[in-house]
Amino acid sequence: MPEVLIQKEEDKRLIQRAYRQLLRSIKSPMDPDDRRNIRMAYELAVEAHSKQRRKSGEPYILHPIEVARICAEEIGLGPTAVVCALLHDVVEDTEVSLVDIRQKFGERIAKIVDGLTKLDSSFNSESPQAENFKKVLSTLVEDVRVVLIKMADRLHNMRTLGSMPRHKQLKIAAETTYIYSPLAHRLGLYAIKTEYQDLCMKITDPDAYFEIARKLQETKRDRTRYINEFIKPLTRQLDEINVPYRIFGRPKSIYSIWNKIKTKKVPFEEIYDLFAVRIVVDIEPYREKPICWQVYSIVTDVHKPIPERLKDWITTPKSNGYESLHTTVVGPKGRYVEVQIRSERMDEIAERGFAAHWKYKGSSNQPDVYEVWLDSVRDILENPNSDALEFLSDFKTNLFNEEVYVYTPRGDMKILPKGATALDFAFSIHTDIGYHCTAVKVNNKLVPMGYKIKNGDQISVTTSKNQKPNESWLKMAVTGKARSKIRSAMKEERRQQGELGKEALERKFRNLKIDFESGVETLVRYFDFSSRIDLFYALAKEHLHLHEELKHFRVEGGKLIEIEPEKRPVEEPAPADKVVPKRTRKKFTGRPRLLVGGEPADQYNYSFASCCNPVQGDDIFAYLTATAGLKIHRASCPNATHLMANFGYRIMKAEWLETTDTTFVADLKVTGIDNGPGIIERLTHEISTNLGVNIRSFNIWGDEGYFEGKISLLVANTDQLNLAIRQLQNLEIVSTVTRIE
Ligand code: MN
Repeated sequence: MPEVLIQKEEDKRLIQRAYRQLLRSIKSPMDPDDRRNIRMAYELAVEAHSKQRRKSGEPYILHPIEVARICAEEIGLGPTAVVCALLHDVVEDTEVSLVDIRQKFGERIAKIVDGLTKLDSSFNSESPQAENFKKVLSTLVEDVRVVLIKMADRLHNMRTLGSMPRHKQLKIAAETTYIYSPLAHRLGLYAIKTEYQDLCMKITDPDAYFEIARKLQETKRDRTRYINEFIKPLTRQLDEINVPYRIFGRPKSIYSIWNKIKTKKVPFEEIYDLFAVRIVVDIEPYREKPICWQVYSIVTDVHKPIPERLKDWITTPKSNGYESLHTTVVGPKGRYVEVQIRSERMDEIAERGFAAHWKYKGSSNQPDVYEVWLDSVRDILENPNSDALEFLSDFKTNLFNEEVYVYTPRGDMKILPKGATALDFAFSIHTDIGYHCTAVKVNNKLVPMGYKIKNGDQISVTTSKNQKPNESWLKMAVTGKARSKIRSAMKEERRQQGELGKEALERKFRNLKIDFESGVETLVRYFDFSSRIDLFYALAKEHLHLHEELKHFRVEGGKLIEIEPEKRPVEEPAPADKVVPKRTRKKFTGRPRLLVGGEPADQYNYSFASCCNPVQGDDIFAYLTATAGLKIHRASCPNATHLMANFGYRIMKAEWLETTDTTFVADLKVTGIDNGPGIIERLTHEISTNLGVNIRSFNIWGDEGYFEGKISLLVANTDQLNLAIRQLQNLEIVSTVTRIE
């Protein structure tokens, strides 16, 4: 058989195997129509994608099949979602049109596929991520399934990122961290969120990832032994309740362990809560609460509880639907162990969130948390004034944060995002109450409007007809609702105040016989105002003097024509989409050699970002700033996620070309035991004499036997830096050495 045919046979086997696996994974009931639709979608997709392959070389169709399997098996979605997942890339990438899909599968499926296609094309385009995010959310309120399928799509792409070039991997990881993972969290898709985080970390911090993974593997046996020791004394009493239950130890994710290492600044070996013990009871909804508390009582009879760690999310679930009883107890060997107690229903909701929530709709007497949340999403989306970036930051503070529970004077509970203020509370009651808010009392005491509300506060608002919002309110409000209302009030205010400016301009233009519309447009563009309201306002407030400004123009055929463009009072910002090569090529002596976008970087105006100080050998990328040329950042820079997610189109690939004698600044934080004089000498001796590394600056402070120092080193590359870190760590007076981001 010719090779091509062998390949074809091989592909066919792969595809059919994947399809059979998909069918097995669908757990929800199907009628003959569902079966027929799935078969039809499969055949259509196979045919449509038949000429495409993925980056890894495998047939493209394996991707939609796998996305459909994730929808069914890992998210728990039904046949409709499976059909849509199979078709999700068909309209975007192939000849098949939406009309075809509507004809074959009907309106409902066509709508979802259309949503997915729109999301897809916006993600591939150059438009900033904030815009994309807005689109994701608009589809979310229409049909949540679109976003759930998109989550599965993203998950499969993340799992198979290996064959992508490095800078693409970084960009996709940033986007996932910025948008998908918080969204997954918000929708309660805990399992997916955790996997996103781990997969992202594997890309941005591979060393740390694999090290923790290895250590987890090495300590697995000890852990299992410990968990068994912990569980054993519980089982007899648990059996006596006479309710089916599961009890097991559950490892925490690599990402969350890493976070702990970073925030607590302790090594892996000193983290004991690498796992939680979970007890899941299988019980009818009305007995859930008493049985869970009975289990709690058994656990705390055997192992001593830490009272302040008790969290009751059964009585008051988290706003993403999470229900569970958490406690931390002192287990054998005095180690703290977290115990999670919940029912099977709660467990499924905890793992799959939104997707599982339908299944149990109405079975618990909790308010429908998702409906409440989707309403607030709608609220934010409906505000036409905010631009995309504003919207995104509103969104991130409002809808992804934890919340606080507060009460009105009548005792009604209100849920607001953590960090919300008294003014936010006023707006959450009613827009008018917000507008006219003059004073706020919390628990009967007067507080400033910017007071950050706390759980359990009882809040009352005093209003006055004469009160109205002003600029400073924006500093006191954090919720999207309040901020957008204040902004539109401000805008209206500006518009009113600008009326004078507008009238003056109308008069002037009439005298000079200039067409009003075209004249205004010319001036708005000339000054780079974002709207004509701003122009009128600037004129009314005399920030601009018409008489002076018009000197730069002449009038021709009723239009304003600019005379001397170089005399522009406002500098035109550099075009974002183009890298402007330096006109005069400077000689960069002693600078590290870099490639940006595969080209020698010398032709660009570039510099190293001071937020993360990259060192030769670090994983890096280039970011095109609006005014300062290219900035080189470390891939692990704290700003990287934000930059890549929002300004993906400004990111360029950057790599080190060769080793030179250039040096880089790297900052280290060193802590340790201050056992008398001579610490500075010992540290500097180690660095400069023993290693021959230059010190740029050195600060040290401390008391009572403890010191903390910041050392700026000039190093040639990461190898030298890591060596310095290791050597310092080996000194017995030093307890930690960390590179400052
Ligand atoms: Mn896809």
